[in-house]
Amino acid sequence: MTRVSKLVPEFVKLAPPELEEGVLYVSMIYGSAVHKCCCGCGDKVVTPFSPTDWKLTFDGETVSLYPSIGNWSFKCRSHYWIHENRIEWAPQWSQKQVETGRAQDRRAKLGFFAARRDQAEAAPVSAAQEHVKAPGLWDGMKTWLSRKLQKHLSKS
Ligand SMILES: [Zn+2]
Repeated sequence: MTRVSKLVPEFVKLAPPELEEGVLYVSMIYGSAVHKCCCGCGDKVVTPFSPTDWKLTFDGETVSLYPSIGNWSFKCRSHYWIHENRIEWAPQWSQKQVETGRAQDRRAKLGFFAARRDQAEAAPVSAAQEHVKAPGLWDGMKTWLSRKLQKHLSKS
């Protein structure tokens, strides 16, 4: 197995079914990148972009991903950074480190979504805007309904 020392970004709508080694396929539409594990094992590594997953930096020529990529569920258990297209190998983690990392990740995700919910409750801007529109719509409905009703009543 030969290690890949560089990944070249390719901006695509959707990654091809057969991935080429040494290419980081970036899909902005799906908010995700995919590449073949840089250790050479050929496993497919998917890195979704989100505030609690990976962040992609593109400087016009090179890409960087943050944080590092730890392929703990692969046989190779490889761990590396993608920094300005270059692969920087990082030390392998023990099972305990992996579990601690996963627990931290879960906590970060829970915290993030809780904060987002609190924000939505504290500042219901969009909800207030909807309320402004709603009576208008309802008034229209009422007029329509009462006209219908009047027609119906005048017939009988
Ligand atoms: Zn690998």
